[in-house]
Amino acid sequence: MTRTYSIIAALALCFAAAAYAAADKISVLIIDGQNNHDWKGTTPPIKDMLLKTGRFNVDVLTSPPANAPKAAWDSFRPDFAKYQVVLSNYNGEPWPDEVNKAFEKFMTDGGGLVVYHAANNAFLPWTEWTKMVGLLWADPNFGDRITVDDAGKTVRTPKGQGPGAGHGPQHPYEVLVRDPDHAITKGLPQKWTHAKDELYHGQRGPGLNMHILLTAFSDPKQGGTDAHEPMAWTIPCGKGRVFVNLLGHDASSVSDPGCAALMIRGAEWAATGQVTIAPPNDIQKPAR
Ligand code: ZN
Repeated sequence: MTRTYSIIAALALCFAAAAYAAADKISVLIIDGQNNHDWKGTTPPIKDMLLKTGRFNVDVLTSPPANAPKAAWDSFRPDFAKYQVVLSNYNGEPWPDEVNKAFEKFMTDGGGLVVYHAANNAFLPWTEWTKMVGLLWADPNFGDRITVDDAGKTVRTPKGQGPGAGHGPQHPYEVLVRDPDHAITKGLPQKWTHAKDELYHGQRGPGLNMHILLTAFSDPKQGGTDAHEPMAWTIPCGKGRVFVNLLGHDASSVSDPGCAALMIRGAEWAATGQVTIAPPNDIQKPAR
């Protein structure tokens, strides 16, 4: 073996050692197919960011389109048990009851769920789903509202009071980590400037057992609510774990380093309860 080949072989070994062993790979199922967002544009970068870590195997399941014949839905039966975590990029027609029941069992048995951006808007009449995601895109009468005050205390506004779901025009904004010791946020900057994106406000739901990881100040000058709105949180579900990330309206904002870090670390945490993926070093910290 020549010296050059020896060096290449040694480097290859280093990379092999740094990568995750096949047995350590986490199986992820991304579900898309209906959304009031560009799911065809966001699923590929999300799949890529997961694969790039070396930690995941990723399958994508695309649902039947809107108004599909019943026969199309009869063959939509995700094999949840094959996966450790489901990442929902879906916001459309209800799934068949049988699928909902299978998904509830997957979660209570210890499965993971990552709810990405508008996916929290899906399935308003599905009670178990509303508990899993905590807050949904809904009007004030649907449920309570959860915000964080200036002292960092969680505030619950009863249903019927205050604003319902919405967002002002897209703009770059600062996000603030509320629990720097959680596995998902550990090692990330305490605050950073997120890419131009929607800033969801007035989300509504049961809001039970929410552990808020990230908030953003919803500036009235940007059509906001003058409150710190939750942007990312976790919720337990039986033996399973849910991670909700409201950031990332499009391919560009979901690929912003901070948002991408939340997606991949959130997926690992939802699957295993731990995070081994290193925090990135290219998150844009605020200038001030
Ligand atoms: Zn959006």
